[in-house]
Amino acid sequence: MLRCPICGSEVNPLYLKTIAETKTELVDGEEITKYKCNDCHSFMSPVELKHDFQYYHDKAEEIYGSRWRDILVILDEIKEYGLFDEEKYKLAGDAQSAWINAYNQRIQQADNNKPKCPTCSSTNIQKISTTSKVVGASLFGLFSKNATSQFKCNNCGYKW
Ligand SMILES: [Zn+2]
Ligand SMILES: [Zn+2]
Repeated sequence: MLRCPICGSEVNPLYLKTIAETKTELVDGEEITKYKCNDCHSFMSPVELKHDFQYYHDKAEEIYGSRWRDILVILDEIKEYGLFDEEKYKLAGDAQSAWINAYNQRIQQADNNKPKCPTCSSTNIQKISTTSKVVGASLFGLFSKNATSQFKCNNCGYKW
């Protein structure tokens, strides 16, 4: 469980390997690779959390009365490195909520683009295959509704 010591965001090891921009810095005569944080965009060396999630849940329950406030316990630990930056933390939060909003919007859009039944608005519809069109046409003649329909609603049975 790696974290950015500047904004506290979770750092995915895969992100470090494949996408992160890097910068080499000389610290006490030693070359250190720093990675660009995906959320706050600062160059940092990720830190590893000292405990497992259970620990943070329990501590949050103990201190804040709710295990879901574990992020506060994690941030306290990260602040010990002395690199934490409140502004960057807010920036990272904004970046994350912007990403979540965009993601929700995409889902909403995909939902809107789904074909719906024009009579009952159900999305439980099926495309009528060519075979059923041919069968419909040969059994009931050219005026069969099946011959011209494209969709059938599984909810109300309407065809269009
Ligand atoms: Zn960061
Ligand atoms: Zn319908």
